[in-house]
Amino acid sequence: MTTLTKTEGEKAPTGPDSFLSVRDLRVRFSTEDGIVKAVDGLSFDVERGKTLGIVGESGSGKSVTNLTVLGLHNPKTTTVEGEILLEGQDLVTTPEKELEKLRGNKVAMIFQDPLTALSPYYTVGRQIAEPYMKHTGASKKEARDRAIEMLTKVGIPQPKTRVDDYPHQFSGGMRQRAMIAMALVCDPDLLIADEPTTALDVTVQAQILDLLKDLQQEFGSAIIFITHDLGVISDMADDLLVMYSGRAVERGGVREVLREPRHPYTWGLLSSMPRLGGSTSQPLMPIPGSPPSLLNPPSGCPFHPRCTFKDQVSGDRCSTERPPLGEGRAAACHLTAEQKQTIFIDKIQPRLR
Ligand code: SF4
Repeated sequence: MTTLTKTEGEKAPTGPDSFLSVRDLRVRFSTEDGIVKAVDGLSFDVERGKTLGIVGESGSGKSVTNLTVLGLHNPKTTTVEGEILLEGQDLVTTPEKELEKLRGNKVAMIFQDPLTALSPYYTVGRQIAEPYMKHTGASKKEARDRAIEMLTKVGIPQPKTRVDDYPHQFSGGMRQRAMIAMALVCDPDLLIADEPTTALDVTVQAQILDLLKDLQQEFGSAIIFITHDLGVISDMADDLLVMYSGRAVERGGVREVLREPRHPYTWGLLSSMPRLGGSTSQPLMPIPGSPPSLLNPPSGCPFHPRCTFKDQVSGDRCSTERPPLGEGRAAACHLTAEQKQTIFIDKIQPRLR
């Protein structure tokens, strides 16, 4: 059942240009083992023409958040609370028929694996043309011309011939480009890209990222870019949201967060990432332990079972009190600003060189 309930939760800054405002989003699944709290009080904004990067381990809630924005959750087993305001329209309460019109038209998604989005039974051209006809009322001929135009834009060679190919006749990189063409064919205002280059080799990955940036400039779309790769995010995003256990634990401009991270989880992510040209004397430091169960999340700060800095917080606050995420540039952690700065300079920064 999809429901709307106003509840207290994290606040995020609201910008005058916010195209998408998510407020106190809570997504729960009913399973045989109990209720899974996949997203637990999440708020963020995305502005037109800007890219919000969302990072976090598997199970952090980043993909569920975006499937919920698109209304692609199963309404029979999922409860959604909070607000997803797209230009002021609350998608949580929008009927499915209207959401269908928005999907592909105003909001589109690029998936990690193009084979999940492209049907093997239809030509690539038809799959690009059909949403265009559906949303714009264009004729078959106009839609085919548009498909060829889109294939040209995403760099498919000989688009006039390849438009009649089936997905299996395309290479992996070309299929990804075709899916981008399909997502952008109606000039969506919001594009959600979920690990769009993970399955590709590094050269093709760089080409696809460049393509997305060029297309964003041309179409002025807002992009939500989900990844676990902080290298990719530094290149793509304007703002960054770090998610853990269905919550935002750190937020800010991408350069600020990556240069001066303030949350122990973000420190862990950065310390466990290999760096090109980094010092070989500094070993990678994986985050100890494993991500928490969303069926039975830890009390207090959800990161406390894995956090090596919780002893620096007085009492048992880390295990009993949920740290709030403040406004603007913020990290949800009980450490004081001085403690965070000292730990970062003494312990974390040397690992990142
Ligand atoms: Fe670690 Fe405590 Fe900060 Fe959570 S609140 S990240 S457990 S120091």
